[in-house]
Amino acid sequence: MSDLGKDLREELESRFTLRSSGLSAELTDPDGTVKLLIELRDGQRIEAVLLSDGEGRGTACLSSQAGCPAGCVFCKTGSLGFSRNLSSGEIIEQFFYLNSRSAVSNIVIMGMGEPLLNLEELRRALGILFDPRGLGISPRRVTVSTSGIVEGIRDLADKGPPVRLALSLTSAREELRNRLMPIGRENPLPLLKEALLYYQKKTGRRVTLEAVLLGGLNTGKEEAAAMAAFASGLGLIVNLIPWNPVEGLVFEGRPLREPSPAELRNFTAELEGRGLKLSLRYRKGRAIAGACGQLGQIRRQPAPRTGCQGL
Ligand code: SF4
Repeated sequence: MSDLGKDLREELESRFTLRSSGLSAELTDPDGTVKLLIELRDGQRIEAVLLSDGEGRGTACLSSQAGCPAGCVFCKTGSLGFSRNLSSGEIIEQFFYLNSRSAVSNIVIMGMGEPLLNLEELRRALGILFDPRGLGISPRRVTVSTSGIVEGIRDLADKGPPVRLALSLTSAREELRNRLMPIGRENPLPLLKEALLYYQKKTGRRVTLEAVLLGGLNTGKEEAAAMAAFASGLGLIVNLIPWNPVEGLVFEGRPLREPSPAELRNFTAELEGRGLKLSLRYRKGRAIAGACGQLGQIRRQPAPRTGCQGL
């Protein structure tokens, strides 16, 4: 910007940053999924994923925290522990990196971190993405996925923005859920259901339940019955996500495993028999550890941050 005076340039440089992070690695899956490893200003590393629809558009999966305090046992990010919340700028920068790879049509806040534990910064980021003077994206194209923070769901219902909400339920048997998702101990299922009903009533939006399916753990008949009971009265869709393998993750001393085709078939039939509407999704990006639950597996040398990176 040599057409600006030196003093003004110095002042701009001291007060503003165009991009605070650097790209450390980029992996592309044969199915078109792109995963970026991004190094933040303080050396923290996060990942962002673009799930391609094969027609030049894609869904951006953004991170909201570096690491995650929720500690879900089936998730690589959960095993890393929590480092810090991302700023609104750091959330938006992920969008820009991905949007430069392929036009982003939808956004899911399902990357690293529990978004409702960083709701203020997320709200600021989404406000900029939604603002016509910003990116002008419709809130209908954004889904926030939570491990089930009761207070956060109510806060989102009260103060917006009016995004789609997904709850990672995984098990509707409280005792098993609390072992798989320790954050459930502070957010018991009855309160969680009340919060979802409140969200639906207040926003008029349908909620999605997500269930990561773990072979031998949460695909039995009892599980299906509990899930149907939890879902009753909510009028929602259940998104089944067969666990995406992560090396080294164990549950109470036993390695986790994917559900077998028979487990998957039987569980699906049990849920459908109880009248639940199902979808089976998010298995893209497994070859690059970019699928659900796999983020946090790549590590690269820090990239030099040189301001504009031509992205
Ligand atoms: S599944 Fe989501 S909430 Fe749970 S540990 Fe992983 S990133 Fe955190």
